[in-house]
Amino acid sequence: MKNLLGGKGANLAEMNLIGVPVPPGFTITTEVCTEYNQLGSGKAVDLLTPEVEAAIKQIEQIMEMKFGSNENPLLLSVRSGARASMPGMMDTVLNLGMNDAAVKGLVEKTGNERFVWDSYRRFVQMFGDVVLGMKPTSKEDADPFEEIIDGLKEEKGVELDTDLGVDELKELVGRFKKAVKEKTGKDFPADPWEQLWGSVMAIFDSWNNERANVYRRLNKIPDEWGTAVNVQAMVFGNMGDDSATGVAFTRDAGTGENLFNGEYLINAQGEDVVAGTRTPQQISKTGSLRWAELANVSEKERAGNYPSLEETMPAIYNELFDIQEKLENHYLDMQDLEFTIQKGKLWLLQTRNGKRTGAAMIKISMDLLREGKIDEKTAILRNEPIKLDELLHPVFDLKAIDQAHVLAKGLPASPGAATGQIVFFADEAEKWAEDGKQVILVRIETSPEDLAGMNAARGILTARGGMTSHAAVVARGMGKCCISGAGSMLVDYRKRSFTVDGKTFNEGDWISLNGSTGEVYEGKIQTIDPELSGDFGSLMEMADTHSRMYVRTNADSPHDAAIARGFGARGIGLCRTEHMFFEGERIKAMREMILAGNETGRRKALDKLLPIQRSDFEGIFEAMHDLPVTVRLLDPPLHEFVPHEDENQKEMAREMGVSVEEIKAKVEALSEFNPMLGHRGCRLGITYPEITEMQARAIIEAALNLKKRGVTAIPEIMIPLIGTSEEFILQEKIVRSTAAKVFEEKGDTIEYLVGTMIEIPRAALTAAKIAESAEFFSFGTNDLTQMGFGYSRDDAGTFLPIYIEKGILKNDPFQVLDREGIGQLVEMATTGGRKTNPNLKIGICGEHGGEPSSVEFCHMVGMDYVSCSPYRVPIARLAAAQAVIKN
Ligand code: ADP
Ligand code: MG
Ligand code: MG
Repeated sequence: MKNLLGGKGANLAEMNLIGVPVPPGFTITTEVCTEYNQLGSGKAVDLLTPEVEAAIKQIEQIMEMKFGSNENPLLLSVRSGARASMPGMMDTVLNLGMNDAAVKGLVEKTGNERFVWDSYRRFVQMFGDVVLGMKPTSKEDADPFEEIIDGLKEEKGVELDTDLGVDELKELVGRFKKAVKEKTGKDFPADPWEQLWGSVMAIFDSWNNERANVYRRLNKIPDEWGTAVNVQAMVFGNMGDDSATGVAFTRDAGTGENLFNGEYLINAQGEDVVAGTRTPQQISKTGSLRWAELANVSEKERAGNYPSLEETMPAIYNELFDIQEKLENHYLDMQDLEFTIQKGKLWLLQTRNGKRTGAAMIKISMDLLREGKIDEKTAILRNEPIKLDELLHPVFDLKAIDQAHVLAKGLPASPGAATGQIVFFADEAEKWAEDGKQVILVRIETSPEDLAGMNAARGILTARGGMTSHAAVVARGMGKCCISGAGSMLVDYRKRSFTVDGKTFNEGDWISLNGSTGEVYEGKIQTIDPELSGDFGSLMEMADTHSRMYVRTNADSPHDAAIARGFGARGIGLCRTEHMFFEGERIKAMREMILAGNETGRRKALDKLLPIQRSDFEGIFEAMHDLPVTVRLLDPPLHEFVPHEDENQKEMAREMGVSVEEIKAKVEALSEFNPMLGHRGCRLGITYPEITEMQARAIIEAALNLKKRGVTAIPEIMIPLIGTSEEFILQEKIVRSTAAKVFEEKGDTIEYLVGTMIEIPRAALTAAKIAESAEFFSFGTNDLTQMGFGYSRDDAGTFLPIYIEKGILKNDPFQVLDREGIGQLVEMATTGGRKTNPNLKIGICGEHGGEPSSVEFCHMVGMDYVSCSPYRVPIARLAAAQAVIKN
């Protein structure tokens, strides 16, 4: 249903079926959008006309009004609606059917001149914007219609849109039409049918507008889906003080708390609530009291100027409360609703599964599970692995917060902590972020055009808007920290600054946001690491009971190992040893080893490295005690370690007692045309067996030292970059004979494994043979992807984005494992390896090990575990459980 009708259309139809009051209407399917794109507008209109005419007749009958009539005109709303919800991304036209003649008829019929002209004004404005392309010309410019409104308000000395009287509204319609004529050279269309077709086509076109494209890319929505168009009778929230419009959530989208909440405005229409131009009121009294406290509004002012719907229209509130309960129980998920009250009658205009933060996602799923509304499997599937990321980010250090200075307060629109430099424009936020800066996007209010910039920013701060403003809703969807409606800030886009209490903050100044309290702080604030607790912890434990694979981590230091363990890692899947050679003085011994002219020289240098490596391993093994640790032997090309600057070359010459020329010559000799395919990986251990020997000794000695202290280390020694079984056998022999020697010296033994990384396509092809001696495989899918595709990972940035844009690839294969090609190598190696060695332990240690779709694939081919960076461990644990449930 959703695929054809789009989310909005399908849910409108469903609401109608379960007895929720919805204005009558019909939906033009997403297939028509696709056809429209292929056939062009002329053909599409011809094909559609008979059906649309018949459907309009039906609405006319139900509403007892007539589309295009001058006496009793039916007005329509024309709305977009894709399969997946894309809030605010595409266009809507309201009050369609208005023209000078219809105005007269409507005034006579309703006797409400202000309402009629307000609707007409809105229609010309929306139609002008959506269909006739009346948009601001540059980012500093205001919307052309808003500029006209502001001009008139100034002339008349009024502040709010609602203060504009009938005469002013008439004046606005006139000025709007004039602006349209000036800009487009054509008269504003008066014919309702022309208005209708224009709007339908514009909505099809809006599927391809810039902001919709950005949104689809961010949310991985396929371009070919298309949008449906919903045509519906208008209901009016702008008919006076007994009318209103609003949005509501069945639970709190920021925290997940089970509390019906939302905002509304009396005598308003459409997007007024989210546009941030008037301060919206809360729906429930509880919400209203909480809001007043945060916004620093006294009870007298609240009750007088901002009373809740529960107080102003208690009967409607109760009806709305029952409906929201009904809808949540129907969809069994938190709902985001739109409603309008026309002269004391409640209408629902939309329901959808509400966007929420990561924290709310977890709480809502666990609450629904506890309430017995969904089962464990559903609860697990309700959590999007990637969104857990939000909860794994640092939070403010409470001590640092105590000393920080609060410069302003707004609404806690989307929780989290963010520190960054002030930027006022979305495109600049993107640019600054690309340059590696941390930015906070500060706006008076945001609009859908700001999407990419909001995504690039660490946090979002707006001077206007409520908890359901565009900024707030989008930020929660992105899991981005956001504070909205910090009204004491005066933002000046032209000066690129804002002022609070006489103090000015400029572009580039540092500020910090606490999206959970709404407090804006001056300067940078220290952050600390989060932990798994409460519902998050329970969800993780529950996930583990459903999964088959377990999760390890990629960690090179005891610190990282400890973090990952805290997140539930059950071992290390990849401990890279090269990092251990770079730090401080160590690099000198390493260079000495590389630059030595013979084995004796190398052994001398390796003797210096041995104790250093041993103590590093002790640290890591201890942090991962009782759990396996896969240690990869030296992997990168040697020339990465040698001194390239004169200064360092001289130093090495002095240290080793040789001439600078000799050093230079050696460095020269080590340089390679294609280092990634050069002298690296096990090739190093083959040409210099003493390196492998030293590393094996360091590992085994470390484990034995710990054993003496009662700590159990379980090393798994991994030979990198194997392409033939012979390479493996040679290296394995060195490792095993060294271990045997150490066991004899120390008079004690430990358990250990020797295995290999599968990262060269040839290794995947000959896996059966390699597994005759290897005890484990770990897929190094970064290199496997690089060599399988023949894309240099370091250079692919120049063409991969274009490949994705042109649809040659669906995803960056370095992020999402390519199931079709590289996946075959993985599958083949898994099957092959298990054939000759049924006990072969198999895992993955490439970046893919923390990416949900790749984790699913690893499950499908039967791996034992995935390994990923520490902060991805919870994501992988959840993805591993979902893989079982989905397959
Ligand atoms: P979006 O997908 O961006 O939310 P919508 O199509 O839902 O866009 O509509 C935009 C605004 O117009 C919403 O506030 C909605 O409630 C209002 N609206 C849509 N249809 C009607 C209608 N038939 N009567 C009154 N208001 C409507
Ligand atoms: Mg909507
Ligand atoms: Mg590799």
